Formats: sequence, structure tokens, C-alpha cells
Amino acid sequence: MKSIRFRTRLLLSFWLILIPALCLPAYYIYRTLENDIYKEATANAFTQLEFIHWLLNERPAFDNEQALDKWCEDLGAQLHYRITIIAAGGRVIADSDVNYPNINLLDNHSDREEIIGARKFGQASSIRYSFTIGRNLIYAAKNINTPNAPSGVLRVAIPLSSVETRLAYFGHRFWLILFIMFILTTLLGFFLTRKLEAPILEIIQTATAIGEGKYEKRLDMDAGSEFARLSECINAMTRKIQQDIRMITEQKQELEAVFGGMQEGVMLLDQEGKIKATNDALTWIAKCMPSCVGHRPMEVFLNPEIQEACNQVLMGKDMIKRKIALNNEIVYEVNVVKIPDGGAVVVFHDISELVRLEKVRQDFVANVSHELRTPLTSIKGYAETLLNEKFRTSDQADSFVTTIIKNADQMSNIVNDLLELTKLQQQQRKAVRLSTVNAALCFSSAWETVMPMSNEKGISLDNRLPDSVWVTADEHSLIQVFRNLLDNAIRHSPTDTKITVFAEITQAAATFGVQDEGTGIPLQHQKRIFERFYRVDNERSRASGGTGLGLSICRNAIFGMGGKIWVKSPPDDQLKGSVFYFSLNRAVDFLT
Ligand code: ADP
Repeated sequence: MKSIRFRTRLLLSFWLILIPALCLPAYYIYRTLENDIYKEATANAFTQLEFIHWLLNERPAFDNEQALDKWCEDLGAQLHYRITIIAAGGRVIADSDVNYPNINLLDNHSDREEIIGARKFGQASSIRYSFTIGRNLIYAAKNINTPNAPSGVLRVAIPLSSVETRLAYFGHRFWLILFIMFILTTLLGFFLTRKLEAPILEIIQTATAIGEGKYEKRLDMDAGSEFARLSECINAMTRKIQQDIRMITEQKQELEAVFGGMQEGVMLLDQEGKIKATNDALTWIAKCMPSCVGHRPMEVFLNPEIQEACNQVLMGKDMIKRKIALNNEIVYEVNVVKIPDGGAVVVFHDISELVRLEKVRQDFVANVSHELRTPLTSIKGYAETLLNEKFRTSDQADSFVTTIIKNADQMSNIVNDLLELTKLQQQQRKAVRLSTVNAALCFSSAWETVMPMSNEKGISLDNRLPDSVWVTADEHSLIQVFRNLLDNAIRHSPTDTKITVFAEITQAAATFGVQDEGTGIPLQHQKRIFERFYRVDNERSRASGGTGLGLSICRNAIFGMGGKIWVKSPPDDQLKGSVFYFSLNRAVDFLT
């Protein structure tokens, strides 16, 4: 359709130039020729008129008007002209083509153009159609004043037919030539436009394909073609676009990969403050499936603080940083940064762990300070009292010193336990080297350490462990775990009770239990007793020499060995006491 229009347009333009270029000169030539032919015919008519006038002068005078008419008739028959003599008033007195009896029937000729002209200027001519003889005639008229004839106007009328035939011939030839030229130029134009159109069509097709994304397309034009330069330009342009698009696609993929891999949630806001793009992390944070795009931050996060920060940046502020806790209690550091072209980038950085660690650190420092302050205050008080010589020499001095030593021991225990805990945590980070250990031997070693304490309280041991329970563990840590659990069991049990130790062995793991008949642990505390410095009863624990770190050490040690630790209080089928369980992986070499 487009190509037809283009060709038609070309052809029409061709004709538009061609037709006036042919017709105007032809018309000019025709008019000039017509003019010349008419001039020549008129000159000839005047020559004939002069000749007739001369003949009229040369002959003797006519007897009457009839004789004059007869003379005109004879002469007209010889010369093949119409000869007319018109009297002064316009009456025709002789006419070669009209018989004398009918002369009077002719109109008065005084209004004829050539007659008026001849009277005025002596001679005149005109060309017009004669109804009398039914032809175009050229009339030439002349005033005559001769003694041979009545004075008036002598007129000859020569038929224009030969002149018209020549003009008509010229006209026909002209139209024929014009028609042939028209056909030829149309054919020529058709072929030329087709030749011209072919490369244009190719350019259009290639440009359309490039526009549709087929950047591998190239134009292949002859080097000599008028369009070669254009095709080179288009090819160069396409190559450049292809390179740029490849580069942009690569950059986009890289950016998407970076954004996709980021743990921080990132979203892009447009100038109106609506979300334009997000990464996976943000979709997860905002929980807006399948997409947050097109919404405002407020609709997605239901948090006015975020919306407000975004608004401020969209209204001109360069950057805003906020610490915001979202409904799921995750704390984010939200950075909103202005984009120069309008819009903003919002980055959500999860700082919950940092916040938690900071809190843990603060709590830890507070706890340690608190734990150390009590014995330290006591030591300071008693030491200051002993400075006084009166007290130093008194009976109480021994008990003061004993208290100082007890508190110093307590402080030493705390510091030792802290060091142990730190060591375990460092080992966890480094991944402890585990080996195959006989848990039964570890238990015996731990029991030996606490035996004096158990003897003191009359607490007996029911050891139900087999002789060897091979587990994957760190020997020192396992002894420590048993010791802490036994220490707790003894400290929190009344005198003359029993501690039972047992193991449940499965294919993959060994679960150990240390059960006592002590005070037990209320349910609401059971989850927290493994935290550092957490005690059910602070005073009692301290008084019994506890540091509040024993179970925390156990938990770290067991985790470090790939196991689990938990408590059940009271134990199944019991009304009082507690049982501490921990599981460890069985040593691979000893699996049955
Ligand atoms: P502590 O040195 O104070 O015993 P732990 O971390 O070992 O610190 O224990 C934390 C708390 O758990 C104790 O203060 C105590 O209240 C409770 N607890 C631990 N073991 C027992 C047990 N066998 N019987 C009763 N309570 C216990």
C-alpha cells in the first residue's frame, strides 16, 4: 500500500513537471503559428483585394448595378472568392455569390466589422463564420471611389479552410505527440520509480525489522547506488544500537543479580512516590506478593515513619536515615536517598542482630558488674573493718576473713566461669575439634570433683551409665558439662537425697540424663535458665556458691559438640526434682 502510494506520488510528480513542460511550449508554438497563418491569409486577402480594385479601375464604367454584379460573379467564379460591393449606406449592390435578383434580400452590411473599419481607416479585415455560405471566412474590405462603379466598399471573402486545415493538422499532430510522450513517460516513469523504489523498500523493511528489535539485520546495497551512503549510516547506527543494547542488557542483568543477591531490601520510588521496582529481599520484607510495584510505601509497610521519610526526600532532602522496627519486630536501618532525576532509592538494612548483640552486651556488662559488685562490696566492707585494730584483734576477725575469702572465691568462680564461657564461644566460632570420647569416663571424672560436696550433703549417686558410651565430643567440655549439672543438682537438692545418671542410646545419638530430687524449676523459668546470669532465686543461688553461668556454659559446650540440652522439671512420674538431658552424636567407629 505504502509502496503504491510512493510510486503513484513519484509518477504524479513526474507528470506534473512533464505536462506543463510539454503543453506550454506547444501552446505557444500553436498560437504563434495560428497568428502567422492568419496574418499571411489576411495579407493574401488584401493582395487579392488590391488586385480586384485594380481590375475595377482598369475596366470601363458599368451600365448598371446588374452589370457590376455580373462582373463580380464572373470574377468570383474565376478566383473562387466571394466579391461584394457595398454602397455607402451599407446596401449590397453586387455580390459574386448572390444572383442579382436576390441582392436586395441581403442584409444591410453597414454593421459588419470590416465595413466599419474600411470606412474609418480606408481598409480593414475580420475573420468570422458566414451563415450565407456556411464557412469561416476572412474578410478584407477597402473603400473605393472610382468613376467605373458606385462609390462604397469593395470586399473579398476568402475561405479559411486551407488555413484551418493546416492548423487542425498541426493540432492533431501535437495531441498525438503529446499522447505518445505521455505513454512513453508513463512507462519510463514506471520503470524509473520501480528502480528507485526497490532500495527504498529494502531500507523500509530493514528499518522496520530493526525497530522490532532484530538488530542483527543489515542493509546490503551496491557500492555505486545512491543509497549506499544511507545504508552505511543505517548499518553503523544498527551496530551501535546493538552494542549499546547488549551493554545495557548486561549492565541490567548485573544490576539485577546484585540487587537480587543483596540481603538488604531495595526499592525505587518514582517522582510521584510510587514504588517503581524492588529486589527480592524487599518483597520478602514487605510481604507484598506478587509485587509491590505501583503502591505507595505506606500501603506496603503500613508504617507512617517510612512514608514520612520518603516524602521528605521526594520534596527535596538529599538523604534520610531512620531506625525503624517493623511489625515482625525486625529492626531496620532505613536509608532514603534522592535520585538526581527525581524519585528516591530506599534501602532496608536488617540491624536486628546488631541491636540484639548491643542489648546482650549492655545486659552482660550490667550483669557482670552486678555480680562482681556484691562480693566486692562485701570484701571492701570487711577489709575496711579489719583496718581497725580493735576489730582485727577481736574474735570476729576470723569470721570476717572467712567472709572475705568466700566472696573472693565467688568472684574467682565468676571470673573463671566467664573465661570458660568466652573460651567455649571462641571455640564455637572456630569449630571445635571433636574426637571419640567415652562419656562414662568423663562422668566419673566429673563426679570425683563434686564428690566432697555430695558427701557433705549426704547425697548418693545412682550411676546407671554403661561402662562405655562412645560419643563424638570434646573431653574437657563434656567433663565440664557433667560437673556443672552435678554441681547444680547437689546445690539445689536437700540433704540425703539421690542423684541418678542414665543414658538412652539410639543408633545415631546418646542422650544423657542427670536427675535430682531437689527443689525443681518452675515451668515459667525453664526456658530461660540457660541464659547467662539467669537464676530462679538470686539470693539462694549466690548463697549456695552459684555464679548463674553454669547452665550457660553447658549449653555453649553442648552446642559446640553438635548436641542439644534441655530440662524437664519435675521428671516424668515424679513430683519433685529436675532432670537435665543432653544429647550427643555417637562416635562413628562404635556404631552397631
Ligand atoms: P547457678 O550457678 O546459679 O546454679 P546455673 O546457670 O547453673 O547458675 O543455673 C541457673 C539457675 O537454674 C539456677 O540459679 C537455679 O535457679 C536453676 N537450676 C539449675 N539447676 C537446677 C537444679 N538441678 N535444680 C533446681 N534448680 C536448678
